[in-house]
Amino acid sequence: MPMFDYKCNSCGHKFDKLVPFSESEKIVECPKCKKHDSNKLLCAPNISNRGSDIRPNGRCNSPSGFS
Ligand SMILES: [Zn+2]
Repeated sequence: MPMFDYKCNSCGHKFDKLVPFSESEKIVECPKCKKHDSNKLLCAPNISNRGSDIRPNGRCNSPSGFS
């Protein structure tokens, strides 16, 4: 099951969540403010020019400026 990083649009809280592929497009609930207003942060491990930003555990930071 893939883990996705999310950022809540309401309170700005970042969290990650294991989501089945079948639910990967669903909007998940923010564990902090309980609102369903979160963005899935896009991980792009294939982009090599910023490869040093990729954490060794496979998670990634919010790609700032990526919209
Ligand atoms: Zn929130």
